[in-house]
Amino acid sequence: MSESNVIVSNEPWKKPLPNIDKDNEAFYEGLKKHKFLVWRCKTCGASYWPKAYCINHENEPFAANMDWAESSGRGKIFAFNRHHMAFHPAFKDELPYVYALIELDEGPLVSSTLVGAKTPKDVYDVGQKVEVVYEDHPAEGFTLPRFRIVD
Ligand SMILES: [Zn+2]
Repeated sequence: MSESNVIVSNEPWKKPLPNIDKDNEAFYEGLKKHKFLVWRCKTCGASYWPKAYCINHENEPFAANMDWAESSGRGKIFAFNRHHMAFHPAFKDELPYVYALIELDEGPLVSSTLVGAKTPKDVYDVGQKVEVVYEDHPAEGFTLPRFRIVD
């Protein structure tokens, strides 16, 4: 993945901060290195995000059966919604923005906002291919994943 998949934001962050805890700390550390990590089942290779028990091995303890693995950062739009109203004041300047549920090529569904010139317009845009864009916030010391439509 090229460095054009990185956005550096020097705008002061006014939105809610990501909730980083022991179950997703590695994920956020991965984002800083521009890697999109998912949980992967050691037994069957199924990928999950967020933390989950493998549906194929539900009786096994989570930690013993899952490990972090790098995903492709690619997927497709599973569903989206164009927001015309800010649910948090800090989103006001970005209206309208597209909030999307992305189905990663590895399987898990992740939610994020779309960036870039291309945005989905109607139901026929469900299934459009997307890739992750890493939005670095150097002042605050975190990176957030966004997605953009690819041809
Ligand atoms: Zn499994």
